[in-house]
Amino acid sequence: MSSEYQRIFGVDLGTTYSSIAYMDDYGKPVVVPNSENQPITPSVVFFDGDSIVVGEVAKESSKLYPHDVVSFVKRSMGEADFVFEHNGRTFRAEEISSFIIRKLVQDAEKHLGEKIEDVVVTCPAYFGINEREATRRCGEIAGYNVRQIINEPTAAAIAYGTMEVKDERVVLVYDLGGGTFDITMIEIQSSAIEVICTGGDHNLGGKDWDDRIVAYLVQEFQNATKSTEDILEDPDTCQDLLLSAEKAKKVLSHRDKTPILITHGGERVKVTLERRKFHEITQDLLERTAALTHEMLEEAKKKGYWNFDEIIMVGGATRMPQVGARIQKEFGVKPRMFDPDEAVAKGAAIYGLKLAMNEGLKRKVTRRRERDNPKSAKETQEFEIDDVLEEVEQLVSENENLRPADVRLSRVRVTNVASKSFGIIAVNSKDEEVVFNLILKNTDVPNVITKSFGTAAADQEAVSIQIMENDTTDIMTPLHEAVEIGTAVLQLPGGLAADTPIEITFKLNEEGRLEISAIEPTASKKKVDVAIDTQSVIGGEELEAAKARSSGLVVS
Ligand code: AMP
Repeated sequence: MSSEYQRIFGVDLGTTYSSIAYMDDYGKPVVVPNSENQPITPSVVFFDGDSIVVGEVAKESSKLYPHDVVSFVKRSMGEADFVFEHNGRTFRAEEISSFIIRKLVQDAEKHLGEKIEDVVVTCPAYFGINEREATRRCGEIAGYNVRQIINEPTAAAIAYGTMEVKDERVVLVYDLGGGTFDITMIEIQSSAIEVICTGGDHNLGGKDWDDRIVAYLVQEFQNATKSTEDILEDPDTCQDLLLSAEKAKKVLSHRDKTPILITHGGERVKVTLERRKFHEITQDLLERTAALTHEMLEEAKKKGYWNFDEIIMVGGATRMPQVGARIQKEFGVKPRMFDPDEAVAKGAAIYGLKLAMNEGLKRKVTRRRERDNPKSAKETQEFEIDDVLEEVEQLVSENENLRPADVRLSRVRVTNVASKSFGIIAVNSKDEEVVFNLILKNTDVPNVITKSFGTAAADQEAVSIQIMENDTTDIMTPLHEAVEIGTAVLQLPGGLAADTPIEITFKLNEEGRLEISAIEPTASKKKVDVAIDTQSVIGGEELEAAKARSSGLVVS
């Protein structure tokens, strides 16, 4: 890639492991190893006095200093009431995750000898508004330009589609990571990567398999020592068992059994965990992934997609052999494992190249136009690459640094679906308050929908608009199934009749960001832009303070 194109790095900010990738000079996505020479870094943060340590050392330190170590922070992303307290200071999930991004970027800078400023960060497909915004803030706190947030399965499909697939096909991406399960149907074509439907569970991942082993070990300890003590109440034992459980799980991916030593309160108990037993105590977790896959397939049928061509598995937990076997039994297709640890970061890097190429080509075309015909260039500043293909071809023929493959990539359309349904609270015909969804989950984005609602009473002074997010796919949803993500008040002029129309517009962009406006279109024509309540996401002074703390911070 020519140096005049900004290099945009892909960051896979995972629940248990994270990684960073870039596009090398030959147009290939490459994961950059960390300073321990590992391609993936545990998403674990150790507050070691005034220093911040991220990765394997932090993970190992959790045994000795369980109160100073944070793991699985991604599960708390965008949660208002999550804070980690250390030495009298509090940290939100975004700031803790920003340390992970910093570690990845700093190590990559050292390895490559170049400064990194721009990143694409991935998140699970089902992340809602707040979780996505929180993910963006993590990168911003760390001091980088977050060029886009893209969905993990989409990133995996981009990697798969651009590296492996030469024909058109519909693919299921079965992504079982450390803490999350995403199942996504994606159509891959040479000129487009289109998400059809998505589902999953953000509390189901490899960690749940670990937790089942831990519960089994506690029982075995109690049986062997004839005690009823809950040894997990001891934080040292708890951390130790969690680490042993994860190791045992990995061993069972290639062996039939594994020994595990439990030490607690001066007692030592040796347990042999067999693969058969491991399957038995975790079977329901696998069944849940199969059920969620069926749910998603039913949704896809509503969009006219009755079949798929293949299943690819990504995410470290798909290395458990029972996962592939179960999928094959359920769906009659042998799933293909695709670069389970690296596909997401690589896909994000490919997407980064697409963004950079797109911008770079537009700049070049504009410059060329200005050179050849200064007047007309100013008149037509806004254009898409597809509108100027002839000029792009000329550029390629003039410039040997421009690879046709990169130019093709810049034109690939990547489209998504809404991860949630979004609506407002209104009163239905039975006089009950319900959520009226304007944008439905799994419909294509970007999307703009305007709907008219009536005022409840004559002479109403204002309407209060409550914006709700939910996982249902029905237009009308009970209140208890939705969470509020924003509110706004539209002041009204006096003297309006009951049932005066109020038009509400929801605009969801390709990144999953929602913009809302409300207007009283007849009498006053008053309009409000509704801000999403991001109280559960770090912002304002707190965000600035976190950025200031982060600048100059070295994460080891
Ligand atoms: P990811 O978030 O995609 O990095 O996946 C991380 C999860 O994969 C963690 O729960 C790991 O314990 C799990 N994992 C990684 N390697 C293996 C393996 N060989 N066998 C079983 N699980 C694994």
